[in-house]
Amino acid sequence: MEQNLQTRPLGLYLHIPWCLSHCRYCNFFTLKYGRKAAEAYYRLLLSEKELYLAHGFKELSTIYFGGGTPSLLSAEQISELIAGLPLTPDVEITLELNPIQISPDFLQKLSSTPINRLSLGLQSMLEHELSYLDRQHKASDIPAKIKLLREFGYKNISADLIYGLPDSTLESVKQNLNLFLALPLEHISCYLLEIHDDSELIQDRKRIPSDELLAAQYHTIRRTIQTAGFEQYEISNFARPGYQSRHNLLYWQGDDYLAWGASACGYFQGLRYQNPADLDSYQAMLESGKIFGRADPQADAEADYIMMALRLLQGMDLATFKSRFGHDFVQGREVKLAQLSKLGLIEPQAGHIRLTPQALFISNAVIAELL
Ligand code: SF4
Repeated sequence: MEQNLQTRPLGLYLHIPWCLSHCRYCNFFTLKYGRKAAEAYYRLLLSEKELYLAHGFKELSTIYFGGGTPSLLSAEQISELIAGLPLTPDVEITLELNPIQISPDFLQKLSSTPINRLSLGLQSMLEHELSYLDRQHKASDIPAKIKLLREFGYKNISADLIYGLPDSTLESVKQNLNLFLALPLEHISCYLLEIHDDSELIQDRKRIPSDELLAAQYHTIRRTIQTAGFEQYEISNFARPGYQSRHNLLYWQGDDYLAWGASACGYFQGLRYQNPADLDSYQAMLESGKIFGRADPQADAEADYIMMALRLLQGMDLATFKSRFGHDFVQGREVKLAQLSKLGLIEPQAGHIRLTPQALFISNAVIAELL
Protein backbone atom coordinates (compact mmCIF):
# COMPACT_ATOMS: atom_id res chain seq x y z
CA MET A 1 0.00 0.00 0.00
CA GLU A 2 1.39 3.41 -0.87
CA GLN A 3 2.47 5.78 1.87
CA ASN A 4 0.58 9.07 1.80
CA LEU A 5 2.23 12.45 1.29
CA GLN A 6 2.62 12.99 5.02
CA THR A 7 4.50 9.76 5.66
CA ARG A 8 6.51 9.54 2.43
CA PRO A 9 10.19 10.40 2.99
CA LEU A 10 11.74 13.65 1.82
CA GLY A 11 15.38 14.01 0.74
CA LEU A 12 17.76 16.83 -0.07
CA TYR A 13 20.47 16.82 -2.75
CA LEU A 14 23.22 19.44 -2.62
CA HIS A 15 25.42 19.92 -5.68
CA ILE A 16 29.00 21.04 -5.08
CA PRO A 17 30.49 21.58 -8.56
CA TRP A 18 34.18 22.01 -7.67
CA CYS A 19 36.84 19.55 -8.76
CA LEU A 20 40.60 19.63 -8.28
CA SER A 21 41.08 18.51 -11.88
CA HIS A 22 38.82 17.34 -14.69
CA CYS A 23 38.44 13.61 -15.40
CA ARG A 24 38.12 13.00 -19.13
CA TYR A 25 35.07 10.74 -18.92
CA CYS A 26 32.97 13.08 -16.77
CA ASN A 27 29.76 14.74 -18.02
CA PHE A 28 28.62 16.39 -14.80
CA PHE A 29 28.41 20.13 -14.24
CA THR A 30 31.83 20.76 -12.70
CA LEU A 31 34.12 23.76 -12.24
CA LYS A 32 37.82 24.02 -11.46
CA TYR A 33 38.24 24.52 -7.74
CA GLY A 34 39.25 27.97 -6.54
CA ARG A 35 39.09 28.97 -2.87
CA LYS A 36 37.38 32.34 -3.38
CA ALA A 37 34.81 31.08 -5.88
CA ALA A 38 34.04 28.06 -3.68
CA GLU A 39 33.53 30.34 -0.69
CA ALA A 40 31.13 32.56 -2.68
CA TYR A 41 29.22 29.47 -3.84
CA TYR A 42 28.94 28.23 -0.27
CA ARG A 43 27.34 31.54 0.70
CA LEU A 44 24.80 31.05 -2.13
CA LEU A 45 23.97 27.64 -0.69
CA LEU A 46 23.40 29.23 2.71
CA SER A 47 21.02 31.73 1.16
CA GLU A 48 19.20 28.88 -0.60
CA LYS A 49 18.91 27.16 2.76
CA GLU A 50 17.37 30.30 4.29
CA LEU A 51 14.79 30.49 1.49
CA TYR A 52 13.79 26.87 2.07
CA LEU A 53 13.59 27.30 5.83
CA ALA A 54 11.32 30.30 5.34
CA HIS A 55 9.18 28.27 2.94
CA GLY A 56 8.91 25.42 5.46
CA PHE A 57 9.18 21.72 4.73
CA LYS A 58 8.90 18.51 6.69
CA GLU A 59 11.73 16.48 8.21
CA LEU A 60 14.43 15.25 5.86
CA SER A 61 15.15 11.56 5.96
CA THR A 62 18.18 11.76 3.66
CA ILE A 63 20.73 14.38 2.64
CA TYR A 64 23.20 13.77 -0.17
CA PHE A 65 26.25 15.94 -0.86
CA GLY A 66 27.12 15.21 -4.51
CA GLY A 67 29.20 16.83 -7.18
CA GLY A 68 31.74 17.64 -8.40
CA THR A 69 33.73 17.01 -5.28
CA PRO A 70 31.65 17.87 -2.21
CA SER A 71 34.49 16.75 0.05
CA LEU A 72 36.13 20.06 -0.92
CA LEU A 73 33.70 21.70 1.52
CA SER A 74 35.27 22.21 4.93
CA ALA A 75 33.86 20.33 7.92
CA GLU A 76 32.55 23.63 9.30
CA GLN A 77 30.73 24.36 6.02
CA ILE A 78 29.14 20.90 5.96
CA SER A 79 27.95 21.27 9.54
CA GLU A 80 26.64 24.77 8.92
CA LEU A 81 24.66 23.68 5.85
CA ILE A 82 22.96 20.95 7.91
CA ALA A 83 22.51 22.93 11.14
CA GLY A 84 18.90 23.83 11.91
CA LEU A 85 17.35 21.63 9.20
CA PRO A 86 14.44 19.46 10.33
CA LEU A 87 15.76 15.88 10.30
CA THR A 88 14.31 12.45 11.08
CA PRO A 89 16.10 10.71 13.98
CA ASP A 90 17.60 8.11 11.60
CA VAL A 91 18.57 10.56 8.85
CA GLU A 92 21.08 9.20 6.31
CA ILE A 93 23.65 11.86 5.34
CA THR A 94 25.98 10.91 2.49
CA LEU A 95 29.13 12.64 1.32
CA GLU A 96 30.76 11.76 -1.98
CA LEU A 97 34.43 11.55 -1.17
CA ASN A 98 37.47 11.76 -3.42
CA PRO A 99 39.87 9.05 -2.13
CA ILE A 100 42.83 11.36 -2.59
CA GLN A 101 41.53 13.50 0.27
CA ILE A 102 41.43 10.72 2.86
CA SER A 103 43.96 11.51 5.59
CA PRO A 104 43.90 11.46 9.41
CA ASP A 105 43.70 15.25 9.48
CA PHE A 106 40.79 15.36 7.00
CA LEU A 107 38.89 12.63 8.86
CA GLN A 108 39.51 14.23 12.23
CA LYS A 109 37.64 17.29 10.98
CA LEU A 110 34.99 15.34 9.06
CA SER A 111 34.12 13.29 12.14
CA SER A 112 32.82 16.48 13.77
CA THR A 113 30.05 16.65 11.12
CA PRO A 114 26.81 14.59 11.03
CA ILE A 115 27.94 12.75 7.84
CA ASN A 116 27.17 9.05 8.43
CA ARG A 117 27.60 7.53 4.96
CA LEU A 118 30.49 7.89 2.51
CA SER A 119 30.44 7.28 -1.22
CA LEU A 120 33.96 6.83 -2.58
CA GLY A 121 34.80 7.65 -6.19
CA LEU A 122 37.14 4.65 -6.51
CA GLN A 123 36.06 3.75 -10.09
CA SER A 124 38.70 1.02 -10.43
CA MET A 125 41.27 -0.89 -8.40
CA LEU A 126 43.50 -1.32 -11.46
CA GLU A 127 46.20 1.35 -11.69
CA HIS A 128 46.18 1.52 -15.50
CA GLU A 129 42.40 2.09 -15.53
CA LEU A 130 42.66 4.87 -12.93
CA SER A 131 45.31 6.50 -15.01
CA TYR A 132 43.14 6.18 -18.15
CA LEU A 133 40.24 7.82 -16.27
CA ASP A 134 42.50 10.67 -15.03
CA ARG A 135 41.85 9.76 -11.42
CA GLN A 136 44.47 11.17 -9.08
CA HIS A 137 44.48 8.42 -6.43
CA LYS A 138 46.44 5.15 -6.46
CA ALA A 139 44.65 1.81 -6.13
CA SER A 140 47.47 0.51 -3.92
CA ASP A 141 46.66 3.20 -1.30
CA ILE A 142 42.96 2.32 -1.04
CA PRO A 143 43.03 -0.59 1.50
CA ALA A 144 44.89 1.59 4.03
CA LYS A 145 42.59 4.54 3.35
CA ILE A 146 39.46 2.47 3.96
CA LYS A 147 41.01 1.06 7.12
CA LEU A 148 41.46 4.65 8.25
CA LEU A 149 37.78 5.39 7.52
CA ARG A 150 36.84 2.47 9.75
CA GLU A 151 39.15 3.71 12.51
CA PHE A 152 37.29 7.02 12.40
CA GLY A 153 33.99 5.17 12.87
CA TYR A 154 32.53 5.16 9.33
CA LYS A 155 30.44 2.00 9.08
CA ASN A 156 28.48 2.70 5.92
CA ILE A 157 30.84 2.99 2.96
CA SER A 158 29.94 2.75 -0.70
CA ALA A 159 32.29 2.70 -3.70
CA ASP A 160 31.74 3.35 -7.40
CA LEU A 161 33.11 0.97 -10.03
CA ILE A 162 33.22 1.73 -13.77
CA TYR A 163 33.33 -1.13 -16.24
CA GLY A 164 33.39 -1.35 -20.04
CA LEU A 165 36.63 0.62 -20.44
CA PRO A 166 38.47 0.47 -23.78
CA ASP A 167 40.42 -2.80 -24.13
CA SER A 168 38.85 -4.24 -20.97
CA THR A 169 38.21 -7.98 -20.97
CA LEU A 170 36.19 -10.36 -18.86
CA GLU A 171 39.40 -11.25 -17.04
CA SER A 172 40.30 -7.62 -16.26
CA VAL A 173 36.79 -6.99 -14.94
CA LYS A 174 37.01 -10.06 -12.68
CA GLN A 175 40.44 -9.01 -11.44
CA ASN A 176 39.16 -5.51 -10.65
CA LEU A 177 36.06 -6.82 -8.96
CA ASN A 178 38.00 -9.22 -6.75
CA LEU A 179 40.11 -6.30 -5.52
CA PHE A 180 36.90 -4.38 -4.72
CA LEU A 181 35.45 -7.36 -2.88
CA ALA A 182 38.55 -7.63 -0.72
CA LEU A 183 37.74 -4.17 0.68
CA PRO A 184 35.38 -3.74 3.63
CA LEU A 185 32.47 -2.09 1.78
CA GLU A 186 28.73 -2.04 2.51
CA HIS A 187 27.63 -0.92 -0.95
CA ILE A 188 28.94 -0.98 -4.53
CA SER A 189 27.57 0.98 -7.51
CA CYS A 190 28.66 -0.31 -10.93
CA TYR A 191 28.40 1.94 -13.96
CA LEU A 192 29.07 1.33 -17.62
CA LEU A 193 31.52 3.87 -19.09
CA GLU A 194 29.58 6.07 -21.48
CA ILE A 195 31.47 7.90 -24.20
CA HIS A 196 29.29 10.69 -25.56
CA ASP A 197 29.87 12.33 -28.94
CA ASP A 198 31.43 15.41 -27.34
CA SER A 199 33.60 13.41 -24.93
CA GLU A 200 37.37 13.80 -24.80
CA LEU A 201 37.49 9.99 -25.05
CA ILE A 202 35.70 9.86 -28.39
CA GLN A 203 38.79 8.59 -30.27
CA ASP A 204 38.78 5.50 -28.03
CA ARG A 205 35.26 4.43 -28.92
CA LYS A 206 36.51 1.77 -31.33
CA ARG A 207 38.34 0.08 -28.44
CA ILE A 208 35.21 -0.25 -26.32
CA PRO A 209 34.26 -3.94 -25.91
CA SER A 210 31.51 -5.33 -28.13
CA ASP A 211 27.91 -5.27 -26.83
CA GLU A 212 28.16 -9.02 -26.16
CA LEU A 213 31.31 -8.59 -24.09
CA LEU A 214 29.82 -5.61 -22.20
CA ALA A 215 26.78 -7.72 -21.35
CA ALA A 216 29.06 -10.55 -20.22
CA GLN A 217 31.02 -8.10 -18.05
CA TYR A 218 27.80 -6.83 -16.48
CA HIS A 219 26.45 -10.29 -15.70
CA THR A 220 29.81 -11.42 -14.32
CA ILE A 221 29.78 -8.39 -12.01
CA ARG A 222 26.22 -9.18 -10.89
CA ARG A 223 26.90 -12.81 -10.14
CA THR A 224 30.25 -12.24 -8.44
CA ILE A 225 29.05 -9.44 -6.18
CA GLN A 226 25.98 -11.39 -5.15
CA THR A 227 28.06 -14.47 -4.37
CA ALA A 228 30.12 -12.24 -2.06
CA GLY A 229 27.00 -11.51 0.05
CA PHE A 230 25.67 -8.33 -1.53
CA GLU A 231 22.07 -8.07 -2.65
CA GLN A 232 21.38 -6.48 -6.02
CA TYR A 233 18.51 -4.08 -5.43
CA GLU A 234 18.77 -1.87 -8.52
CA ILE A 235 20.21 -2.31 -12.01
CA SER A 236 23.58 -0.79 -11.01
CA ASN A 237 23.51 -1.06 -7.22
CA PHE A 238 24.42 -3.74 -4.70
CA ALA A 239 24.24 -3.58 -0.92
CA ARG A 240 24.93 -5.74 2.09
CA PRO A 241 21.66 -6.39 3.97
CA GLY A 242 20.35 -3.15 5.52
CA TYR A 243 22.74 -0.89 3.56
CA GLN A 244 20.73 0.14 0.51
CA SER A 245 21.17 3.81 -0.37
CA ARG A 246 18.05 5.32 1.14
CA HIS A 247 18.63 8.56 -0.74
CA ASN A 248 18.85 6.91 -4.15
CA LEU A 249 15.77 4.84 -3.30
CA LEU A 250 13.84 8.12 -3.18
CA TYR A 251 14.66 8.63 -6.87
CA TRP A 252 13.65 5.13 -7.88
CA GLN A 253 10.50 5.07 -5.78
CA GLY A 254 9.27 8.43 -7.09
CA ASP A 255 9.54 10.18 -3.71
CA ASP A 256 10.25 13.85 -3.17
CA TYR A 257 13.71 15.39 -2.92
CA LEU A 258 14.75 19.01 -2.76
CA ALA A 259 17.70 20.33 -4.75
CA TRP A 260 20.20 22.96 -3.69
CA GLY A 261 23.04 24.27 -5.81
CA ALA A 262 23.68 25.12 -9.45
CA SER A 263 22.42 22.44 -11.89
CA ALA A 264 20.85 20.39 -9.07
CA CYS A 265 17.65 18.54 -9.99
CA GLY A 266 14.72 18.13 -7.60
CA TYR A 267 11.27 16.61 -7.52
CA PHE A 268 8.67 18.02 -5.20
CA GLN A 269 4.95 17.27 -5.10
CA GLY A 270 4.77 16.43 -8.78
CA LEU A 271 7.12 19.21 -9.94
CA ARG A 272 10.38 18.08 -11.56
CA TYR A 273 12.79 21.01 -11.66
CA GLN A 274 16.41 21.94 -12.23
CA ASN A 275 18.37 24.88 -10.89
CA PRO A 276 20.32 26.90 -13.51
CA ALA A 277 23.60 25.24 -14.51
CA ASP A 278 25.63 28.42 -14.36
CA LEU A 279 26.59 30.40 -11.31
CA ASP A 280 25.26 33.82 -12.38
CA SER A 281 21.80 32.51 -13.25
CA TYR A 282 21.74 30.43 -10.09
CA GLN A 283 22.57 33.52 -8.03
CA ALA A 284 19.90 35.54 -9.89
CA MET A 285 17.33 32.83 -9.13
CA LEU A 286 18.10 33.04 -5.41
CA GLU A 287 18.09 36.84 -5.42
CA SER A 288 14.62 36.76 -6.91
CA GLY A 289 13.53 34.63 -3.93
CA LYS A 290 12.75 31.53 -6.03
CA ILE A 291 13.48 28.14 -4.54
CA PHE A 292 12.44 25.89 -7.40
CA GLY A 293 14.48 26.07 -10.59
CA ARG A 294 13.05 25.65 -14.08
CA ALA A 295 10.30 23.08 -14.37
CA ASP A 296 11.12 20.44 -16.95
CA PRO A 297 8.61 21.03 -19.81
CA GLN A 298 9.13 17.46 -21.05
CA ALA A 299 8.43 15.94 -17.63
CA ASP A 300 5.92 13.14 -17.74
CA ALA A 301 5.28 12.01 -14.18
CA GLU A 302 3.84 8.65 -15.20
CA ALA A 303 6.64 7.75 -17.63
CA ASP A 304 9.23 8.93 -15.10
CA TYR A 305 7.74 6.73 -12.44
CA ILE A 306 7.67 3.65 -14.68
CA MET A 307 11.29 4.19 -15.79
CA MET A 308 12.52 4.60 -12.25
CA ALA A 309 10.46 1.91 -10.52
CA LEU A 310 11.41 -0.75 -13.07
CA ARG A 311 15.09 -0.15 -12.30
CA LEU A 312 14.48 -1.73 -8.91
CA LEU A 313 14.92 -5.50 -8.73
CA GLN A 314 11.69 -5.77 -6.76
CA GLY A 315 9.96 -4.12 -9.73
CA MET A 316 7.02 -1.76 -9.82
CA ASP A 317 4.20 -2.16 -7.34
CA LEU A 318 0.94 -2.10 -9.30
CA ALA A 319 -1.20 -0.87 -6.40
CA THR A 320 1.16 2.08 -5.86
CA PHE A 321 1.00 2.90 -9.57
CA LYS A 322 -2.79 2.90 -9.46
CA SER A 323 -2.99 5.06 -6.36
CA ARG A 324 -0.62 7.61 -7.91
CA PHE A 325 -2.04 7.83 -11.41
CA GLY A 326 -5.62 6.75 -10.92
CA HIS A 327 -5.63 3.96 -13.49
CA ASP A 328 -4.44 0.43 -13.98
CA PHE A 329 -0.92 -0.08 -15.41
CA VAL A 330 -1.76 -3.38 -17.07
CA GLN A 331 -4.91 -2.19 -18.86
CA GLY A 332 -4.06 -1.40 -22.48
CA ARG A 333 -0.63 -3.04 -22.19
CA GLU A 334 -1.82 -6.66 -22.04
CA VAL A 335 -0.41 -7.64 -25.45
CA LYS A 336 2.95 -5.96 -24.90
CA LEU A 337 3.28 -7.46 -21.44
CA ALA A 338 2.49 -10.93 -22.78
CA GLN A 339 5.11 -10.53 -25.55
CA LEU A 340 7.83 -9.35 -23.17
CA SER A 341 6.96 -12.09 -20.73
CA LYS A 342 7.17 -14.72 -23.50
CA LEU A 343 10.60 -13.37 -24.44
CA GLY A 344 11.65 -13.85 -20.82
CA LEU A 345 12.26 -10.12 -20.29
CA ILE A 346 9.66 -9.32 -17.63
CA GLU A 347 8.04 -11.36 -14.94
CA PRO A 348 4.68 -10.48 -13.44
CA GLN A 349 4.84 -11.28 -9.72
CA ALA A 350 2.18 -10.97 -7.04
CA GLY A 351 1.13 -7.33 -7.42
CA HIS A 352 4.38 -6.37 -9.16
CA ILE A 353 5.94 -6.24 -12.61
CA ARG A 354 9.67 -6.58 -12.78
CA LEU A 355 12.49 -7.07 -15.25
CA THR A 356 14.08 -10.51 -15.35
CA PRO A 357 17.84 -10.76 -14.75
CA GLN A 358 18.44 -11.20 -18.49
CA ALA A 359 16.62 -7.90 -19.20
CA LEU A 360 18.70 -5.83 -16.79
CA PHE A 361 21.53 -5.04 -19.22
CA ILE A 362 19.06 -3.95 -21.91
CA SER A 363 16.67 -2.33 -19.45
CA ASN A 364 16.26 0.93 -21.38
CA ALA A 365 15.01 -0.89 -24.47
CA VAL A 366 12.66 -3.13 -22.48
CA ILE A 367 11.21 -0.27 -20.42
CA ALA A 368 10.73 1.81 -23.60
CA GLU A 369 8.40 -0.93 -24.85
CA LEU A 370 6.16 -0.28 -21.86
CA LEU A 371 5.98 3.52 -22.12
S1 SF4 B 1 36.18 14.23 -9.72
FE1 SF4 B 1 34.17 13.32 -10.20
S2 SF4 B 1 32.86 15.06 -10.70
FE2 SF4 B 1 35.00 15.80 -10.77
S3 SF4 B 1 35.58 15.65 -12.94
FE3 SF4 B 1 36.23 13.74 -11.92
S4 SF4 B 1 34.48 12.34 -12.19
FE4 SF4 B 1 33.73 14.39 -12.64
